[in-house]
Amino acid sequence: MCIKSNRHITILGGGPAGLAIGYYAKKSQLPFTIYEANKRVGGNCVTLQHDKFLYDSGAHRFHDKDPRVTEEIKQLLGEDLRKINSPSQIFHSGKYIDFPLSPLNLIRNIGADKTLRAGFDFVSSKLRSHKNGSFENYALGAYGKTIANDFLLNYSRKLWGISCKNLSPAVAGKRLEGLNLKTFLLEAISGQKVKTEHLDGSFYYPKMGYGTIVDKLADYCGEGNIKKNAGVTKVFHDHDKIKGVEINGKTQIATEELVSTLPVTLFLRMMDPKPPQKILDLVNSIQFRSLILVGLFLDKETVTPNATVYFPESKYAFTRIIEPRNRSVHMSPQGKTSLIAEIPCQNEDEVWNLKDGELIERITNQLCGIKWIKEREILGSTVYRVHYAYPVLEKGFEQKIEPIMGYLKRFKNLKISGRSGIFKYTHMHDMIGFGHTIIEEYLANYEEKAAAMVSPG
Ligand SMILES: Cc1cc2nc3c(=O)[nH]c(=O)nc-3n(C[C@H](O)[C@H](O)[C@H](O)COP(=O)(O)OP(=O)(O)OC[C@H]3O[C@@H](n4cnc5c(N)ncnc54)[C@H](O)[C@@H]3O)c2cc1C
Repeated sequence: MCIKSNRHITILGGGPAGLAIGYYAKKSQLPFTIYEANKRVGGNCVTLQHDKFLYDSGAHRFHDKDPRVTEEIKQLLGEDLRKINSPSQIFHSGKYIDFPLSPLNLIRNIGADKTLRAGFDFVSSKLRSHKNGSFENYALGAYGKTIANDFLLNYSRKLWGISCKNLSPAVAGKRLEGLNLKTFLLEAISGQKVKTEHLDGSFYYPKMGYGTIVDKLADYCGEGNIKKNAGVTKVFHDHDKIKGVEINGKTQIATEELVSTLPVTLFLRMMDPKPPQKILDLVNSIQFRSLILVGLFLDKETVTPNATVYFPESKYAFTRIIEPRNRSVHMSPQGKTSLIAEIPCQNEDEVWNLKDGELIERITNQLCGIKWIKEREILGSTVYRVHYAYPVLEKGFEQKIEPIMGYLKRFKNLKISGRSGIFKYTHMHDMIGFGHTIIEEYLANYEEKAAAMVSPG
């Protein structure tokens, strides 16, 4: 049943989270407006273009985790959404190792001695307690020190920029389900590779890049409901309700219902009056990781068969290399390919402030060094900077986030969504699920109110 309500929903941020809320609001005929600071929507989930090459703002794949969301996306994209098969590997000591890790593949690549040591560490790690709540302890407990050090801890230190002793186990997400005691024993006994469902090389991906999903969500929302180049600069409240927002430092807009998908730190700093100092202190103590993408567009058919190659060793400037044509051949012109290097960093780091030319030279030298490319094959290059790429989930981050979210809950007409809004390591399908839930909550609330109005009591 569709219930029409006059309560207008103001949505801050036109990334996947904001667009998903708009999408479900439109489906339920609820009035809404999305305010997006940028000149285009899609946030950190867009497909970019360089000449005839396409590439995404980071290595994206659609996770088939929530059947309701997958069905919705299949309907929205139709034939543009394809199930593809493209593996991922780790490049370590000049060798390619399957990801997720598998004992048989490890024997082949790191040698029987080291695999035996890894196997011994792995089984003995199961007998020891690793309960101090850090990612390091979690990884050591799950895999033993040989595997954890070579493949997980080095990589995570590069990705998150802090010691794994200070990282929460939550950063692992579902990534580390590849090698557990069951798969280890199954492979050792059967001599056959056991792949985990989540991490195998098959996933959904749109024909013309991941950004097609946000483009289709935006099309459905309708141009008139999305204000671009409309950056929120202030959020006015009376300690109980959000009264309005200021756009681009000048226009004030009154709000009835408000959903913010903006980074929670940004939202709280824009509140007028200011939140209590103890909340601002917590806000100042959490951080986000940025990401630099360096793209090289190549006059060669292919470099590797992989969707993504991971580089855990610290001597490489990047953590991952994506080859977009291995997700969809339409991402490169025929006979050509491209490589996109991901360099995670903080905005204060020297690397973030390097000139584009210096970044391109660094990546080119390293890729020529491992003989992936030759300089003369480079047709073009680009650099793209991603702000708020990941919330940094330090050990004990929950104790900071809970009071912040507790403070925001006091505002009766405010809801929070988005990866940086809720400060959780979430993905596109989560954003779409949150959008659905938020609109269902509004509808349930309106139904309750309507029932109360007609009830004789
Ligand atoms: C490297 C990388 C790889 C990823 N891989 C995957 C993957 O494989 N699969 C997957 O499903 N997801 C993946 N994700 C996650 C996915 O991209 C995010 O979940 C998604 O971008 C978060 O959406 P969001 O709307 O919460 O935030 P964002 O995408 O950050 O959007 C927030 C929006 O708010 C806007 N905004 C900011 N400030 C203001 C302001 N003051 N006023 C108005 N607007 C403002 C921004 O311009 C932006 O458009 C990946 C992310 C990264 C960075």
